[in-house]
Amino acid sequence: MTDPAFSSSDFHAQPTSQVLQIVGSQTDGLSDEQVQQRQQKYGANRLTPPPGESNWLKLLRQFNNVLIYVLIVAAVMSWLLGRWTDGGVIFAVVIINGIFGFIQEGKAEQALASIRSMLRVHTHVLRDGVRQQVDSEVLVPGDIVLLESGDRVPADLRLIEGINLAVQESALTGESFSVQKQANPVAPDTPLAERLCMLYAGTLVTQGRARGVITAIGDNTEIGKIGDMLRAVEPMTTPLMKQLGDLGHVLTKAILALSALTFAFGWIWRNYAIDELFMAVVGLAVAAIPEGLPAVITITLAIGVQRMASHNAIIRRLPAVETLGSVSVICTDKTGTLTRNEMSAQSVRLINGELSVSGVGYHPQGDITAEEQPPTEAQQLTLQRLATAAILCNDARFDQESQPWQLHGDPTEGALLILAAKAGLDPASIQQTIPRLAEIPFESSHGYMATLHPAPAGSPQPYQLLLKGAPEKVLEMCTQVWTPAGAYPLHADKWQQAIDSFAARGQRVLALAEADTADAAISIPPNQDGTPDLSAYQFSLLGLVGIMDPPREEARHAIAQCQQAGIRVIMVTGDHASTAAAIGSQLGLSEPLQVLTGSELEQLEDHELQVRAAEIDIVARATPAHKLRLVAALQAGQQVVAMTGDGVNDAPALKRADIGVAMGMKGTEAAKEAAGMVLADDNFATLRTAVLEGRTVYDNLRKALVFLLPTNGGQALVMVAAILLGITLPITPVQILWVNMVSAITLSVPLVFDHAAPDIMKRSPRQSDDSLLNGALLFRIAFVSVLLMVLTLTLYDWSTSHQPDLSRARTVAINSLVVAEMVYLISCRALNHATLDLTSWVGNGYALLAIFALTLMQLALTYVPFMNTLFGTAPIDLQDWLIIIGSCLLLYLLMEVEKQLTPRLFFRNGKK
Ligand code: ADP
Ligand code: MG
Repeated sequence: MTDPAFSSSDFHAQPTSQVLQIVGSQTDGLSDEQVQQRQQKYGANRLTPPPGESNWLKLLRQFNNVLIYVLIVAAVMSWLLGRWTDGGVIFAVVIINGIFGFIQEGKAEQALASIRSMLRVHTHVLRDGVRQQVDSEVLVPGDIVLLESGDRVPADLRLIEGINLAVQESALTGESFSVQKQANPVAPDTPLAERLCMLYAGTLVTQGRARGVITAIGDNTEIGKIGDMLRAVEPMTTPLMKQLGDLGHVLTKAILALSALTFAFGWIWRNYAIDELFMAVVGLAVAAIPEGLPAVITITLAIGVQRMASHNAIIRRLPAVETLGSVSVICTDKTGTLTRNEMSAQSVRLINGELSVSGVGYHPQGDITAEEQPPTEAQQLTLQRLATAAILCNDARFDQESQPWQLHGDPTEGALLILAAKAGLDPASIQQTIPRLAEIPFESSHGYMATLHPAPAGSPQPYQLLLKGAPEKVLEMCTQVWTPAGAYPLHADKWQQAIDSFAARGQRVLALAEADTADAAISIPPNQDGTPDLSAYQFSLLGLVGIMDPPREEARHAIAQCQQAGIRVIMVTGDHASTAAAIGSQLGLSEPLQVLTGSELEQLEDHELQVRAAEIDIVARATPAHKLRLVAALQAGQQVVAMTGDGVNDAPALKRADIGVAMGMKGTEAAKEAAGMVLADDNFATLRTAVLEGRTVYDNLRKALVFLLPTNGGQALVMVAAILLGITLPITPVQILWVNMVSAITLSVPLVFDHAAPDIMKRSPRQSDDSLLNGALLFRIAFVSVLLMVLTLTLYDWSTSHQPDLSRARTVAINSLVVAEMVYLISCRALNHATLDLTSWVGNGYALLAIFALTLMQLALTYVPFMNTLFGTAPIDLQDWLIIIGSCLLLYLLMEVEKQLTPRLFFRNGKK
């Protein structure tokens, strides 16, 4: 056999039969055995990732920052000055800082990478004649692939059949318009972009359906050959990270300037030894620079992403984590997201009466009755005709082996198959015996589906066109009604009443119709929406079907929570206004419900829509284009909008929204790629949870900042104050480096692990222009910095005044500073309310662990002789400890009082 993957480069110029032969395949697909052999031979269908940054490089990069340079210079200078221990300690600090940063970054990266692998792409293939869904990575050359609109093309394919097919090839050609494709071979020298019978990996099916055979996979695809640019990983950054990064830079510069000034002051007005002063200033700079900040931010986001993923909300773009926390309006799909997407037909309206259908779920058991009686003969005949149409104009299949039957395809269509089975027909055999000659696939944007078949015996014409779709659309195209006794005029009002009565029960309504035709193809020029204009056909209405899709229990609760959290929920659905309203009130959307229909929306100017958008609860009969306008209108009203979507046409609205949310199960690849987040379970409650976690991320970032800045500030102030006062340094430079290091590696991390505050879904959404640090928090940062400094100096002073040992006094000072930081950590677990309860103290295991570890380190510093020599510390006694702990508890109370008072007294208007 010739090597199918690589031998021929002109598949586009050969007829499909020959291509199949070259790649060693056949129309009903490869056998399992062939697939296995080829998988071994050609490997997985994936692009080789670009070589990542090596671990060494990553480690080295940790040392590439100003702080480290300052420290290295300081270490070298201390050695030059003969201060061997100091130099050694500084050097150790450099190494430990680097390693710690390296570990943290690795953890964050791992978290994000594991999320990426949750988003696998699946493809439908035909193997051994059976249609199945497989992970795109296991595809092999020769596989027969089935694609439909919204799918990503998983490998390079030669088309065997394309129905109404259009593909967007921007990934390959940069051209954003869709290209129509068809299966006929083209000339051998046709350039890549014009090979209409080939589909290329990485491109997107925007319309229609395709069947093709794989000619190349993985790195051998066209995109694999040129795709270096595509493999570039998205930078791991967000607006907030950038903002905080900038803050960090400004702070660093300010601190370096302040240090220089302090040095000059100490040199000119105070008589410190120059080397002592230099070291003190270095200690000051290092203590002040919040070097842990970038790592803390990354970890906070990574943890947020991980938590969301564990709740089935998969973040595709990191900034979405931040945006989620400020969402003020959620526009959500109804079907499958608010409802269970377990459809069952419950009512049928025929010209000769209404029928009720019993039984739930995907079992063919159930009765069809007319007012509790068996249907009349005429009703039976009409029902059979309608059910046959429902089976043929249908892409769903049931796997009848399993119990209940397992559905492959759209639940709406599945419900119709079950209805037909209850009417006594066998869907599978009818689908097999009556071929489909042509079709117009269903799209939300036009609202119907049509298929062409050979006409049943006794028809006036050889072919029959079947139509199924939203009732208004179908009624519009019908001129008469089908009855066993021949055509009957259509009374639109009567039917409209029936539609309304179904919809009022919350049922999704579909109409079915048929038309006789002499054409063996649907060959009429398309409308604007790309669908052929069917107005030339004389359709006869067969009847209406009412389908129930019960609301999700958890959605009701989630909506209530969102409303409590000040987030408006707008249901957007393709269904009828009354259906949507009935489901909406079952779900507890605010009463009275305000419904806007798609056609009403079209009548509104942008500014009118902006006003209406601020009031509505439901948009019904909505198409993807309406979604886009809705998002724009809400955004014009300063809202932060989350919008859900699943279809290929939803992509623009998802991109436009502040956060686009795609459905993981029923969503297309096109929607997922446009989205910032994917709901793996399609469930609205998951979206609510993601918002909650988004708010938590923001909370935790804020807490980390409010903790880190004053601890650094306090440490630095101790040094500044001592130099300004000209006193003996209460904490030596090496000692302050120690404090800075041990507190950075223990205390800076725990807050990012905090879970959602109990009131998190009771606050209103954060304003998008609200800054991370408001007036009250800035005040707290300054206040606590000063408190830490005052405490340290006071206890140092107390110790020197009642005993003569300087080392011991310094040890008291260091321990005071560290214990004060510990209690401040606890205080920071809640920024707007007291932490005087037990949960605040012990609720975060990481905080306890950090405090424990830090205590051990301080005990070592205080009591291990080697450490005493190295750092110039000395053992302290129980009384010292009691004083330290007592003072710190007092400090803690002061912090708690400040927390209550400041926002009330000085920042009344400041937001929480
Ligand atoms: P939703 O956003 O609620 O899923 P859709 O846009 O999918 O709404 O559907 C809108 C309407 O189109 C439905 O109320 C129904 O009448 C009709 N419809 C839905 N699915 C199909 C289908 N597969 N074939 C024909 N008509 C359909
Ligand atoms: Mg739908």
